Amino acid sequence: MLDQGSAPSDDRGQGAAPVVRARSLVLGYGEREAVRGIDLDVRRGEFLAVIGPSGSGKSTLMLAMNGSVPVRSGTLVVDGQEPSGLHGAALERFRSRIGFVFQSFHLVGRLPVLHNVGSGLLARMPVVRAMLQWYTTEHYASILEFLRAVELEDRVLDRCDQLSGGQKQRVAIARALAQRPSLILADEPISALDPVSARRVMEILRRAAREYGLTVVCNLHQLDVAKAFADRVLALDDGRVVFDGPPEDLTESVVSRIYRGAPSPAEGLADIA
Ligand code: ADP
Repeated sequence: MLDQGSAPSDDRGQGAAPVVRARSLVLGYGEREAVRGIDLDVRRGEFLAVIGPSGSGKSTLMLAMNGSVPVRSGTLVVDGQEPSGLHGAALERFRSRIGFVFQSFHLVGRLPVLHNVGSGLLARMPVVRAMLQWYTTEHYASILEFLRAVELEDRVLDRCDQLSGGQKQRVAIARALAQRPSLILADEPISALDPVSARRVMEILRRAAREYGLTVVCNLHQLDVAKAFADRVLALDDGRVVFDGPPEDLTESVVSRIYRGAPSPAEGLADIA
């Protein structure tokens, strides 16, 4: 089991320091402001879905949490550090504590599942071991544990390019777990998947997050999925927060305000959630 184990109940409470804290956060590119004054606390163990129309600022907010987009004004603290102020080795160390799950998986297809998940352990291994992918018995045990968490322990020696899209995304989740992260950032993790695989990936991500007491921030295009799987939903529109609350408060009228008459992305996806 991981250090984090299952999160103790008091650690998930309102009183614990949030894993992500933003205050009056403004982000942008050149002249353009992409995030315009966001306040946000994400608690330890919380599964936050971020929704909103295309261009509303979801990816920019996530990239700032990873230190890839600098803070223009306001503050952003992630796992006790301001990513914007980190550079070089300090930024690498910070990023090693954040698991990323991408829409396009970002696995090395020609390598077996074993090494793709093992790469999540690298930041905690001595350099020579990491370069040689020379795992100890404990490393193998960890890799198998994380593969069990995503129900793929029987595929450990298969090349990743022989897996289905849903299986690849589950390997990516196992790799993120292997980093022993304090935060998982999942950017549209099911956009490239069929509805059945998408549902399975979301179930596994939520279960793994709960089992290990992890905080997850998940950008989602599919409103139904956000409502079915998240503890809390944050909706952005034009860089501003237009909804922040439990999924059950996302009523039809709230949704139509968020998408301002545009067809909501929930349509046609009821079979996933
Ligand atoms: P979302 O993830 O909700 O689709 P983004 O965060 O990607 O939204 O984009 C928010 C705004 O920032 C949009 O207006 C977009 O055009 C702009 N933007 C995103 N990335 C860049 C970039 N690399 N350079 C310039 N503008 C960008």
